[in-house]
Amino acid sequence: MPKYEPILLKNMLQPGYAGSLAEYERAGGYQAVRKVLGQLSPAEVTGIVMKSGLRGRGGAGFPTGVKWGFLPKDYQGPRYLCCNADESEPGTFKDRQLIERDPHQLLEGMLIACYAIGAASSYIYIRGEFVLGAKILEAAIKEARAAGYVGKNIFGSNTSIDIWVHRGAGAYICGEETALLESLEGKRGLPRVKPPFPATHGLYNKPTVVNNVETLANLPHIVNRGAEWFASIGSPPKSTGTRVFCVSGHVKQPGNYEVPMGITFRELIYEHAGGMRGDKPLKAFIPGGASAPFLTPEHLDVKLDFESVALAGSMLGSGGVTVMEEGTDMVWAALRLMEFFYHESCGKCSPCREGSSWLVQIMRRIVNKRGRIEDLETLTDLCKNIAGRTVCAFGDAEVSPILSTLKHWRQEYVDLIQAAEAANLIRPEPVGT
Ligand code: NAD
Repeated sequence: MPKYEPILLKNMLQPGYAGSLAEYERAGGYQAVRKVLGQLSPAEVTGIVMKSGLRGRGGAGFPTGVKWGFLPKDYQGPRYLCCNADESEPGTFKDRQLIERDPHQLLEGMLIACYAIGAASSYIYIRGEFVLGAKILEAAIKEARAAGYVGKNIFGSNTSIDIWVHRGAGAYICGEETALLESLEGKRGLPRVKPPFPATHGLYNKPTVVNNVETLANLPHIVNRGAEWFASIGSPPKSTGTRVFCVSGHVKQPGNYEVPMGITFRELIYEHAGGMRGDKPLKAFIPGGASAPFLTPEHLDVKLDFESVALAGSMLGSGGVTVMEEGTDMVWAALRLMEFFYHESCGKCSPCREGSSWLVQIMRRIVNKRGRIEDLETLTDLCKNIAGRTVCAFGDAEVSPILSTLKHWRQEYVDLIQAAEAANLIRPEPVGT
């Protein structure tokens, strides 16, 4: 039995639960959307979500109700909801489980959000690699459509809401909301300059809300059990509710754990994820996906809420907690992440496109014991010239593995460089490395 009451994972933790429409309804599903359609105005639904304190679970933690409130009130044309299911952040795999194991929970959340913002069409942008998830969602939408829950006059009301699945083609950048919109419009997925935000200029230049899977999946529960109930869970007033944390790396039981926000990393890693593999000491962990700076054992008692992790110098981000044991080569770990970012840079902004290539080349040189001590200054200088100088948050994300490992484990860089100097291995890299 889990220590805390699961909310989002509750149904799927029941033995044999396969996520069909009948099973979801037997567990109380589709009652919240009925309540919304029959008893509440769109403004009232937005008010409940604002009062609950729900914040975006994709990574940025922006207050969901506030985001909905940015849509122009007097605009008469179409508005859209896009569910961001392009979960691609290394170490993050919660949305995948929510989609594959309880798809109707997400669909019900989307219907509630569409009603609140006045959208008749909505899209689930799912990462291309989630082949199974896309099939499961298509099948769930078909079931819901046949039951009259999706499409024209849903649940016999005068509200019509459609949901379509759109598969991405395997680009990390398409999880950035404006690149996602470009891709959905059939263009190359490159981020747009913000502002204007999607709230006013989104899909097809129309008012649009982009919400993450986990964010939307919370909505039926907030409507059913009330804003006060949700606001009392977690770390009120600013980090309410639970989070599904994805624990990976050198732990005994990697997996998704739904816990109230505000528990400590120590509890998550040592109680829920079973502690360190082979009982080795912990050396490092990434608290919120690859975009979040590394933390150290000193931070084990930091609370898993947005403010506390930010105060510790990192971010809660996507909820992907990657744990590393004593003996992990931190320079190699930073290089591995940097190679991911280099591969995924969309190429739109010069600092990121060129800088990611230079960072990888220097990091490879150091790891291959061909580094020079000046490289450390060059790395820092490059990172500072990338972060904050790109259209999207990718620039900030890609420098965090290098800057945070340089901050906490600088000596490991120095040791590799001194080993190169001692072996007199300093020579130009062969072309093409
Ligand atoms: P952001 O802070 O720019 O925006 C957050 C949300 O709030 C967006 O939807 C934005 O449109 C909205 N918003 C913010 N200010 C607004 C305003 N004034 N008016 C209207 N809307 C406004 O952050 P972001 O670039 O969307 O996301 C960055 C985060 O994404 C990172 O922190 C990282 O953790 C996360 N991330 C997640 C994944 C994943 O797979 N889940 C992958 C990469 C990055």
